[in-house]
Amino acid sequence: MPTQPLGWIGSRKLLRQLRDLMKAGGSGQDRLDRVVRLIADDMVAEVCSIYIMRAGEVLELFATWGLKPEAVHRTRLRVGEGIVGDVASSGQPLTLSDAQSHPNFAYRPETGEEAFQSMMGVPVLRDGRVLGVLAVQNKSRRGYTEDEVEALETVAMVLAELVGASGLIGEEEERVTDTMASLPARLAAVSLNEGLGMGYAVPHERGIVIRQIVAEDSGSEIERLERSLGEMLGAIDDLLRRSELRGLGEHLEVLETYRMFAEDRGWLERIREAIRGGLTAEAAVQKVQIDTRQRMSKVKDPYIRERYADLEDLGNRLLHHLLGAEGSAEAADLPDDVVLVARNLGPAELLDYDLSRLRAVVLGEGSPTSHVAIVARALGVPVVGRCPDLLTRVRPGDFTVVDGDNGQVLLRPRLGVRASFADAIQDRAQRRAAFAAARDLPAVTRDGQPIVLLANAGLLVDMQQLEESGAEGVGLYRTEVPFMVRDAFPDVTSQTEVYAKALALAKGRPVTFRTLDIGGDKALPYWAGTPDENPVMGWRAIRIGLDRPAMLRQQLRALIRAAAGAELRVMFPMIAEVAELDRARDLVDRELARHAAAGGHQPSEVKLGVMLEVPALVWQLPALFGRVDFVSVGSNDLFQFLFASDRGNPRLARRYDVLSPPALNFLRNLSVQADAAGVPLSLCGEMAGHPLDALALVGCGFRILSMPPAGIGPVKTTIRGLDLVPLAGFVERLSQLPSRSVREQLRTYALDHGIPI
Ligand code: PEP
Ligand code: MG
Repeated sequence: MPTQPLGWIGSRKLLRQLRDLMKAGGSGQDRLDRVVRLIADDMVAEVCSIYIMRAGEVLELFATWGLKPEAVHRTRLRVGEGIVGDVASSGQPLTLSDAQSHPNFAYRPETGEEAFQSMMGVPVLRDGRVLGVLAVQNKSRRGYTEDEVEALETVAMVLAELVGASGLIGEEEERVTDTMASLPARLAAVSLNEGLGMGYAVPHERGIVIRQIVAEDSGSEIERLERSLGEMLGAIDDLLRRSELRGLGEHLEVLETYRMFAEDRGWLERIREAIRGGLTAEAAVQKVQIDTRQRMSKVKDPYIRERYADLEDLGNRLLHHLLGAEGSAEAADLPDDVVLVARNLGPAELLDYDLSRLRAVVLGEGSPTSHVAIVARALGVPVVGRCPDLLTRVRPGDFTVVDGDNGQVLLRPRLGVRASFADAIQDRAQRRAAFAAARDLPAVTRDGQPIVLLANAGLLVDMQQLEESGAEGVGLYRTEVPFMVRDAFPDVTSQTEVYAKALALAKGRPVTFRTLDIGGDKALPYWAGTPDENPVMGWRAIRIGLDRPAMLRQQLRALIRAAAGAELRVMFPMIAEVAELDRARDLVDRELARHAAAGGHQPSEVKLGVMLEVPALVWQLPALFGRVDFVSVGSNDLFQFLFASDRGNPRLARRYDVLSPPALNFLRNLSVQADAAGVPLSLCGEMAGHPLDALALVGCGFRILSMPPAGIGPVKTTIRGLDLVPLAGFVERLSQLPSRSVREQLRTYALDHGIPI
């Protein structure tokens, strides 16, 4: 007789029954047959089925209660096919009250499943890999509660042990799987940090195998948890003290924020609750991780997603402490060249690895603003993300090439491909050495035109790179970055400290601070805002600053205080009309007056500028030039608005080219007018850091370029190899062409004229 629908705590009885059943012996098939019946009974479901992954990524129905028995071992679905295939490919649970109307429903007449309307499926996961799918079905159209999903996931954890250990699939077949998987593959990903790296795949989740799911005594499991937790916190503190990480400067804050999560009450309480529900401490941690992943999959806000990733990181650490040190990254027997593969990774997890062996990182999830990407950038490790396919296809030890420049991963590439990437990596290392050697040489064209090369910065650690890269100053200081890694809005004093430190680290070089560009893609954890339909064109940047003047004034106050006695350069983002600039300037004037009235030490000079990111501003140039000390083109935003093409949409990434006649005309026209008005014009979008694009910009008349520090060496080499006069004529001719892109013509020009690009 079915009992009440199963809630999470109610699953304790089922867990015990499963444990007894596993101990009872019998063949693997026999046990599976009993398991499905037990689950169906307990979950008040008419059907419970288990599908197991076989060679060639096919899911086979291995046992069922409720579907026709003749379908067992006959019904097979490819990963991605049908609802079961969907669950396997996403690694996420799925609940449907009307499964048959789902577009991916794959009808299999031999199962007789047309009688069942609703369905809930969860992946059977082990070692971060999908071993199969566990599904229940009901005749009536019904929803499944979160508690029920959690209960089924817990049962799937127990099943994972049964499937993994029962010899249900022969070793021979495992070998066949490997052979099939050993074909080369190219997987698309999103670049989170540029660069090339290659080595042997090391799955991050390896080594965490949980043998005991159901606890004998909850009290002693809670004690084990508390003990391991204490050990883990101590280990994180040691990590924070590690000397080689001191150079990370403000990145260390990222780690400190992360440590605070370890003391997050909600997270710990959920683990304790799972133990009280009948699980061992390690199974409870894993269960909360599975729930967290599921929650994360529903959250759009990138910041919240990243905090979930931090919790995943902590969960893994806690598991290592609970299960002993043997699985830890440091103790593991790592190859010399490590390509780390993980669903997601926290910053501290990355730092656990021997950094001298770490060549690249591939994440199933991740975003450019994730903590791990920020830290990897500071360490110069290439990272790609959003590559979920890799997790199911990679085997430990697979040779893997990570192309962070083009957002791709080459799995088990053929020898020829491997060799050409090895050449490219070596070539880069040589060029990096050459750029370092050119650091103190001036950026002057062969015919004598100096070009000012500045760096873009956002964290204090970037400032340390000014010296190394040879940048003449900072053309864009993205002030929102420190705001993004904090937990609360920084007050005037702490903002002043950050800006003063940045100025001190610049050692007299000019630093242009851009006021907060929040909203759009730059979410602050403590800033709820309103969800915009189209955030990059929504309430962001100066629009927020003018509507919430107290916030902008506080930032201006901090900047004025920080620049006491020095030059203060401030620019405003996303200015669309001159009137906005007037209002922003008025706030600056008021803050200067306030500072003077308080007897504060004034900046020696205040220079105000705008970012030109909104095309409408180009039709107000005479008024604009009369009011500013400088203008900087934010090409990342400008071109997405000019071409009406979302800069973050991978489908559009190569659709329009900034090296195209409309873009070149736009830039030439702008630079001619800025010249005539005598207003310094720079460009600070990503394109300035790409040598071929920088060549075009110089040809269009730009004399100041601001870019990520890594671009300065390569761009300087290009500049020192070009003659401006013929280049300008060539770029003008290119701008008249009807082509969609002139990139290849420009590349040929560079090659013909011996210009290094
Ligand atoms: C730009 O839009 O080009 C720019 C530099 O600003 P951000 O990338 O920070 O939006
Ligand atoms: Mg911008």
